[in-house]
Amino acid sequence: DFSQFDLVIVGAGFFGATIAERAAKTLGKKVLIIDRRDHIGGNAYSENDKETGIEVHRYGAHLFHTPNKLVWDYLANFTTFTSYQHRVFASHRNSVYSMPINLGTICQFFGRQFTPDEARALVASQAQELGGKEPDNLEEKAISLIGRPLYDAFIRGYTAKQWQTDPTALPASIITRLPVRYNFNNRYFSDAYEGLPTDGYTAIFDKMLEHRNIEVSLGIDYFAVKNAIPADKLVVFTGPIDRYFDYRAGELNWRTIDFEKEVLPVGDFQGTAVMNYSDEAVPYTRILEFRHFNPERQYPDDKTVIVREYSRFAGRDDEPYYPIDTSDDKKTYQAYKKLAEAETNVIFGGRLGTYRYLDMHQAIAAAIKTFETDITPRLSQS
Ligand code: FAD
Ligand code: UDP
Repeated sequence: DFSQFDLVIVGAGFFGATIAERAAKTLGKKVLIIDRRDHIGGNAYSENDKETGIEVHRYGAHLFHTPNKLVWDYLANFTTFTSYQHRVFASHRNSVYSMPINLGTICQFFGRQFTPDEARALVASQAQELGGKEPDNLEEKAISLIGRPLYDAFIRGYTAKQWQTDPTALPASIITRLPVRYNFNNRYFSDAYEGLPTDGYTAIFDKMLEHRNIEVSLGIDYFAVKNAIPADKLVVFTGPIDRYFDYRAGELNWRTIDFEKEVLPVGDFQGTAVMNYSDEAVPYTRILEFRHFNPERQYPDDKTVIVREYSRFAGRDDEPYYPIDTSDDKKTYQAYKKLAEAETNVIFGGRLGTYRYLDMHQAIAAAIKTFETDITPRLSQS
């Protein structure tokens, strides 16, 4: 019976859970949150592997980092963080380099010592092939940032495997997520706040949703119950926006990942949490070894869990993970955005609902903003 709730939220990921928590706690509203999966947490969900006890992020490695103190302080209500700092290595032609590209990567790749200024000058000379053209796609942007030799070694093959789209058709924004550093700092992220939740990701959601005004209903697909929800009920929808409108403006393109999990009878498989595979000949993009995310925990010393990631286009029945966001996709999304604006009692949010690459901290920040500017005024009227 939906009529007893002030707010119905579709999707128990970070966007939906933040709205639920805020509405219940700060406004005292009754909230129903549903998810078609059998667990809370959305793509940030994690669970302890049965055989080893090692925490595994079911939908791919989730590293928490943010420049946003507001989000960091908000999460402090639900978890503490470890001092984990993410570092990534890249395997290329049987050598191992550090990622993102930094002075160490550059010295190793070109086989000599460079000062920061020498390395800058080298890359600038290699970027001259663009002839000063403003880069407007991933390939041009990458060449402007690192030059062609480093692009060919570390970006071209990996990006081809990950996106299966010509890098000249991909937005430049994808590559600007990766810093290029002319020093030996090899941390993956540059944000002020970073760490992993001390008791795992799922415990955050347990805490966020543990409130007498919040009811959680799992294994429920919105489209199966939609007709039973009163038309004037306020709904927050964090599922795929094209599915909501029955694909009437066309399909938005997504990339999905197949995760191949294996328990191996060794204490340490690769010596680090994430090894990227830059070469196109290796079919997977990267291997995760989950024990390394939590060096502070007691894990078995004769077993380890690894996951190989294979990337491909998402069909309608696959999990949509990364918006591909070509210029056609942008047009399609604009059409859905118009339709969404006309849907007065439904608020679209989150990664799937707004077709945007959102990190966890961005999904939380967006939810807090939507709650304050859009939801609070509406719920205060009722
Ligand atoms: P989601 O977590 O996707 O939640 C949406 C929920 O809606 C899902 O649980 C889904 O089942 C549910 N739903 C959809 N349709 C329906 C329906 N019809 N009925 C009922 N329920 C429905 N972020 C980082 O900050 N750091 C990282 O390292 C990082 N790594 C990532 C790696 C991968 C492989 C992926 C896919 C994402 C990664 N992210 C990372 C991003 C992070 O997962 C998102 O920021 C976060 O999940 C966004 O939360 P959300 O609530 O918008 O969406
Ligand atoms: N990338 C790459 N080689 C790497 C790591 C990243 O070419 O070793 C490119 C790739 O196109 C990727 C983008 O940089 O999609 C952003 O990297 P990030 O680690 O943010 O990837 P994500 O898994 O979030 O897509």
